[in-house]
Amino acid sequence: MVETQLAKRGIRDPRVLDAMSEIPREEFIPLEARVQAYSDGPIGVGFGQTISQPYMTALMAACLELSGTERVLEVGSGSGYAAAVLGALAREVVTVEIVPELAAFARENLRRTGCDRNVRVVDGDGGWGFLAEAPYDAISVAAAAPDVPSSLLQQLCDPGRMAIPVGSLDDQELQVIEKHEGRIDSRVATLCRFVPLRGGEGWR
Ligand code: SAH
Repeated sequence: MVETQLAKRGIRDPRVLDAMSEIPREEFIPLEARVQAYSDGPIGVGFGQTISQPYMTALMAACLELSGTERVLEVGSGSGYAAAVLGALAREVVTVEIVPELAAFARENLRRTGCDRNVRVVDGDGGWGFLAEAPYDAISVAAAAPDVPSSLLQQLCDPGRMAIPVGSLDDQELQVIEKHEGRIDSRVATLCRFVPLRGGEGWR
């Protein structure tokens, strides 16, 4: 997976490649789908949700340019896999999940793999961020938003980086937003298709 799906497609950050080599992705996949654990696409985890394609998890993590000192907020825990990857790259991760059963699934997967040392799963609507522990050096949003939620921008440190898919329900661009000296800049990393953000900052 790391060689054929990530390195070959241009993921260069050695820390991202190492993290994804080491974390057992199959432990984050429902039992009946484990044979697909290293396939090149998203996999259903129940409740209409998916664990993202490995390349997308790698790209988002790489775009955040983590060095190991950061506190990271993830919106949309799903299986907990991306949170585990972020946990290997940063100091601390808080990941918020709106579906209670998936929050429990992520928590259990992170515990079983020993990735829960610096990763905590919180139940709630992450479209509002998680104010109790803000601000965050980096924010990764794993569900597509109609617009960048203002709470997330507010809860981002200066300097700080956020990766978020923004667009319509069917097509989005993965935006990488940088806050620096009070300025907000953004670039498009790729086109993408994520499951929709739910809750107050999602689609009505
Ligand atoms: N990062 C996950 C993939 C998540 S898929 C992984 O590696 O497996 C997107 C997830 O976002 C789903 O679990 C969905 O339930 C969750 N979600 C959608 N809207 C949300 C919101 N407003 N707050 C928190 N989680 C949300």
